[in-house]
Amino acid sequence: MDLADTFGRVATDLRVSLTDRCNLRCTYCMPAEGLPWLPSERMLTDDEIVRLVGVAVRLLGVTEVRLTGGEPTLRPGLADLVGRIAALRPRPKLSLTTNGLSLARLAAPLRAAGLDRVNVSLDTLDPVRFAQITRRDRLGDVLAGLRAAAASGLAPVKVNSVLLRGVNDDEAPSLLRWSLAEGYELRFIEQMPLDAQHGWRRSTMVTAGETLAALGAAVTLRPLPGRGSAPAELFEVDGGPGRVGVIGSVSAPFCAACDRVRLTADGQVRNCLFAREESDLRTALRAGADDEQLAQLWQAAVRGKHAGHGIDEVAFRQPDRPMSAIGG
Ligand code: SAM
Ligand code: SF4
Repeated sequence: MDLADTFGRVATDLRVSLTDRCNLRCTYCMPAEGLPWLPSERMLTDDEIVRLVGVAVRLLGVTEVRLTGGEPTLRPGLADLVGRIAALRPRPKLSLTTNGLSLARLAAPLRAAGLDRVNVSLDTLDPVRFAQITRRDRLGDVLAGLRAAAASGLAPVKVNSVLLRGVNDDEAPSLLRWSLAEGYELRFIEQMPLDAQHGWRRSTMVTAGETLAALGAAVTLRPLPGRGSAPAELFEVDGGPGRVGVIGSVSAPFCAACDRVRLTADGQVRNCLFAREESDLRTALRAGADDEQLAQLWQAAVRGKHAGHGIDEVAFRQPDRPMSAIGG
C-alpha cells in the first residue's frame, strides 16, 4: 500500500500539526489577537497521533515525519511524543519546524528522544524588525535556540525566511552571510496566500526571482541539481561548500513533484496546503476503525489530490483554514 494520487505522485513526507496555537503572531500568518483555537476535545491525543503516524509508516510508505503547527513546542510532553514516533518501525526520519523560542530548553531533550533535525523560522536579524514581524520582542530567544539546536547535534540546522516587501526584503544577503558563518542552511520561501487575515497580495510578494537577484549581487550562486524538472531551488554559494535555497512556491510551484501529505492537530488529512477538502480520520479512529480501515481512508484522501495549487487560476480561493491550523 502507498499514498499515490491520480497524477503519479506518491506521498512519503507526512507533516503533522501538533497544535494550532502559537506564542508569536507573525503578520503574514495570524492576526495580533490570535485565532479561535481548536477545543481540546477535538485535538488528537498523543496516543491517537502515534497510532495514525504508525499506520502511515507501517502501512502507507511514509518515510519522513515533520512535526509542525502552530508552534509545536507548545505541546506539553513533546519529547515523549518524539520518542514514541522515533520508536515506530520502520523508523521515519523525524524533524521539527519551530519558531525556535523554546529550543534553548528543548533542543537537548528532543535530540535525546530521537529528533533528527530542526527547521527554525527566522525572517530578520534586527530586533526591532523581529518585533514588528512577529509582534513579540524575542529575537534573542530564537538565536539562543538555534545555538542550542546546533550544540545538541540536531543536524543540519535549517533556517527558513520569508521576505516581506518594505519590511525585511533588504536582508537577503545579510541573512545568508550570517547563516553561512553560523553553519545553518538557509532557505527563502515566498509568502503564500495562507494567512488568516487574507492579506496576501501577489503584487507585494517578494518573488524567488527578486531574492535570487538580491543574493546574486552580493555572492556568486551556482545552481545545484534540483527536484526533477523543477527550476533550480538550491544554489552553491561562492564556490561552496555553503548553500542556499530559494523556493518559489507561488511563482515556480513544485506541485508536480510534491510528496507531502498533512495531518492536522484535529485529525484531518489534507492532501495539499491549498486543498479545500479534508478527510476526517479522527471520527473514524474514535469510532473504532482498525488500522487497515484508517489506511484505506487515508489512501482515498490522497487519491483526490489536485494537480496543482491553482493560485494563478481565476477561480482560486484561499483555503478556509490558515497555515497555522493546517500545519506549515
Ligand atoms: N510555528 C512554526 C514556525 O514558525 O516555524 C511552525 C509553523 S509555521 C506555520 C511554518 C512555516 O510557515 C514557517 O516557516 C513560517 O514562516 C511559514 N509561513 C507561515 N505563514 C506563511 C505564509 N503566509 N507564506 C509563507 N510561509 C508562511
Ligand atoms: Fe506562529 Fe509559525 Fe505562524 Fe509565526 S509562522 S505566527 S511562529 S505559527
